[in-house]
Amino acid sequence: CGIVGYVGGQSALDVVVAGLKRLEYRGYDSAGVAVLADGGLAAAKKAGKLVNLEKELVDRPLPGGSVGIGHTRWATHGGPTDANAHPHLDNAGRVAVVHNGIIENFAALREELAERGHTLLSETDTETVAHLLAEEFSSVGDLAEAMRLVCRRLDGAFTLVAVHADQPDVVVGARRNSPLVVGVGEGENFLASDVSAFIAHTRSAIELGQDQVVELTRDGVTVTDFDGAPADVRAYHVDWDA
Ligand code: GLU
Repeated sequence: CGIVGYVGGQSALDVVVAGLKRLEYRGYDSAGVAVLADGGLAAAKKAGKLVNLEKELVDRPLPGGSVGIGHTRWATHGGPTDANAHPHLDNAGRVAVVHNGIIENFAALREELAERGHTLLSETDTETVAHLLAEEFSSVGDLAEAMRLVCRRLDGAFTLVAVHADQPDVVVGARRNSPLVVGVGEGENFLASDVSAFIAHTRSAIELGQDQVVELTRDGVTVTDFDGAPADVRAYHVDWDA
């Protein structure tokens, strides 16, 4: 339902949770976050309102980091439980992904992943993407390229945002038939399903086009199509008051 990603110099957790709050008006049934820190990946997710997640983050604090992603979920596949909340991780806990929309061919993908020895821990369509990203990353060593390879295998409508502990300065996003906007800052960049999530930080935005993948670092925004060809981007200034 709502997606936020951040890479920069601030506390990713603070930026992401504040962004999720700005997206609360859309309605949701669960929420979660993941941050890259100390060479690893840490995540927290809870069914119910954001206050439940915030309480969890007080009870079990995550390490501080400056790269993170967050999600508010409106369940379509699997009930609104902690396990089905996003982010979803691969079995090694190195990659985390959040998703809006529906992966139509998830049943075939789940079966294929189970045959290759993956253990699926939720009932969602989304979790398949975490496992596929981990597999592709292990052969290509680059999250944006792994995302392009995975997207080419997905049917349906999706916005995806992911991080990988082995490429800790990068956030990657992708979209097909579901919105994704980049917020361009100075020494920091944002990704969100809606500009209101980052408008407190920057009003410089890039709207992703259909079937595009974006790689964000602190100082760079690179957009390609699903085949890796550089894509034209539409940059604009958000001039409404949020
Ligand atoms: N299909 C996904 C799920 O049920 C994403 C739902 C959403 O858009 O929030 O977990």
